[in-house]
Amino acid sequence: MTDRYTNLCIRCGKQRMVVKTKKEYINSSLVQTTIMACPDSACQKIVDQMLRKEKMLREKIIVNQEREKKLRDRRRSRGRKKSTEDKK
Ligand SMILES: [Zn+2]
Repeated sequence: MTDRYTNLCIRCGKQRMVVKTKKEYINSSLVQTTIMACPDSACQKIVDQMLRKEKMLREKIIVNQEREKKLRDRRRSRGRKKSTEDKK
């Protein structure tokens, strides 16, 4: 990923700056994370809020998907052992 350094702000389209880089070990391999932000701090605040909202929404979707998957699995296993479930 080389376009990380030509990262444009999703809101105003300005070239984003590297705020900080951090290194951390993920699964025993060193991973460098670059945090980019809009040079306009007011704009960056709005973008942060947008991203947070989006993240929450995504997490909600994942939770719903997992719930549905569990329901589907349950329904599938119910179909297999039909004789025990006929009581309901
Ligand atoms: Zn911006």
